[in-house]
Amino acid sequence: MRRVLLVLVIGGIVLALAWALAGLPGRVTADVGDFTFEAATPVVALGLLLLFVLLYALFRGLGAAVRLPETLRARAATRRRRSGDIAITRTLLALAAGEKGDARREASRSRRLLGDTPQTLLLAAEAGRLAGRDDEAETAFRTLAARKDAAFLGLRGLLRQAIEHENWPEAAALARQAEAVQPGAAWLRHERARLAVRAGDWSDALALADADAPKAALATAAADAEPDPARALRLAKQAWQDDPSLAPAALAYASRLRASGKENRALAAIRHAWAVAPQADLAEFALAPVTDKLARMTAAQRLTEANPDHAESRMLLARTAMDAGLTGEARRYAEAARTTGLNQRRLWLLLAEIEEAEGGDTEAGRLAQRDALRHAATADPDPQWRCTACHTTHIDWHPTCPDCFTVGSLSWTTGPAVVAPTIQALPTATLLP
Ligand SMILES: [Zn+2]
Repeated sequence: MRRVLLVLVIGGIVLALAWALAGLPGRVTADVGDFTFEAATPVVALGLLLLFVLLYALFRGLGAAVRLPETLRARAATRRRRSGDIAITRTLLALAAGEKGDARREASRSRRLLGDTPQTLLLAAEAGRLAGRDDEAETAFRTLAARKDAAFLGLRGLLRQAIEHENWPEAAALARQAEAVQPGAAWLRHERARLAVRAGDWSDALALADADAPKAALATAAADAEPDPARALRLAKQAWQDDPSLAPAALAYASRLRASGKENRALAAIRHAWAVAPQADLAEFALAPVTDKLARMTAAQRLTEANPDHAESRMLLARTAMDAGLTGEARRYAEAARTTGLNQRRLWLLLAEIEEAEGGDTEAGRLAQRDALRHAATADPDPQWRCTACHTTHIDWHPTCPDCFTVGSLSWTTGPAVVAPTIQALPTATLLP
């Protein structure tokens, strides 16, 4: 409706102009040399109008002809950009679908059409990774890393490659570069913590650990690796305070206290750890300086007095009494341990030892000893360091499981492993960094 009105209005204006033009009075005369031109005013006005329109069209045409190459270039660029965008979309789809060939082809096409932009370089790198062409991926990541606007993306890709190839020095160097480019990135912090663990750089691993990390294990390892005694003592104390139930942490702290002449504080730390979670290594540490066998019995009683009914306390007292020749005491404690439900090999072996010491030269004693040994053969295994993540057992404690590299996963146990919170979980490969 509006357009109809507009046409009517314009038509009216043109009609009015034509009417006004036709109504112009008089004539126009022009002398050019010997030539005289004379025409009615409306004819001259119409001629001038036509001349203006003609000149205008001529200048517009000339302008368009001059700009023609530029216009053609702009159109070609628009077409290229549109095709490049389509190639990018196809690359993303191929990456998501795991189509290696298509991803590489489309990524290469998008790069050819759009040039080396952060987007095309990243896609080319990811397509290379998907196709197992690490050299291609590395080249694209390095080009990205050299750009100011996308250096972090490139460094992140290179870092991930270094981790995959277990090239830890290279990975650590790349992590430092990435940190300089983008300080405080959460992902980078996590990766640096992981690298520090793999490189055995425990102080760094502890400094980078998040709130859920098993810090006692990291601090214990950091204390063991620390050459400065004062700093090692601080780290060991931190470990012990963080988790008093972790025997290696208590031992790390107590051994440094003992080394600096603070024997009473060392034993207090061990007694505290025993009260929380008794473990054989704690007793070995506490009783190590005592050589007299009866004095060792007294030391064992002192150690276990805060947790006397624990099976581990009874086993320690039974063993120490046996070593001191107190077979009656040894039997009493061993039987007490058995009544708490303990059915481990070491208990039956100790009972066999007691039977041999008390009645080894009698038939009844030999029978009792054989009976205890029979029980030992079918008893539960003795406690060991066991990984709560992969369930493998280890002779010694380690800050990370030597098999699955999970941090703080080793637990002193005989039973089925319990999954504990850890900072270590190898990342699953992601499509894009
Ligand atoms: Zn493990």
